[in-house]
Amino acid sequence: MKVQAAVNKTVGPIILLGAPGAGKGTQAKLIVERYGVPQISTGDLLRDHVSRGTELGKQAKAIMDAGKLVPDDLVNDMVAERLSRPDAARGFILDGYPRTLAQAQWLDLYLADKVFENQGERKLHPVVIDIAVEYNQLLRRLTGRRSCPTCGRIYNVYFQPPRVADLCDVDGAKLVTRRDDCEEVISERLRAYQRQTLPLVDFYRAKGQLLEINGDQDASAVSRDVLKVIDGHRL
Ligand SMILES: [Zn+2]
Repeated sequence: MKVQAAVNKTVGPIILLGAPGAGKGTQAKLIVERYGVPQISTGDLLRDHVSRGTELGKQAKAIMDAGKLVPDDLVNDMVAERLSRPDAARGFILDGYPRTLAQAQWLDLYLADKVFENQGERKLHPVVIDIAVEYNQLLRRLTGRRSCPTCGRIYNVYFQPPRVADLCDVDGAKLVTRRDDCEEVISERLRAYQRQTLPLVDFYRAKGQLLEINGDQDASAVSRDVLKVIDGHRL
């Protein structure tokens, strides 16, 4: 989908929720292109701090090396530092954050003090976009994936099948299912996502900040709805 840039607009905080397979990555990329705001992923932040050997990175590394989860406080500190950089002055998309209710509550307090460009003293609430996809649809998107061991091309037996069943269009190699794409692994990932995200969905819904988008549509229709929501958001 060709996007028209709107790079002067202050969009404020955008939070994308959506299960694996909901197409969050595609939509995040579109938002970055259209509004010129950074996509901030806590996974990337963590890797960056560890590789630069910052104080936060050293603490996080010690915890991860001990096989533990990096605590909310540490993640929040990294997020705070990242959101204070100039490229986030008009807004940003958060990807994989907040992940817990405690993180969401912390973010709320943080945003109560954050000043965005051209907004004066006015505080901006997050636009929380939940890309909702029906469970069986997610299952088909994820378990239908096959890849070519020779050229790496990805197919989906339901949505993008090869011309000849099980064989790569390009080189005729027999397609394989990655272990991560088998139904058992996928359904556990989806259940884990739901467990983790439900409290966040409830939190933002109760605040009236949750905007649900029908993710069962094709990607360009989802994009159209996502942009409509952001453009129409009263800051
Ligand atoms: Zn191939």
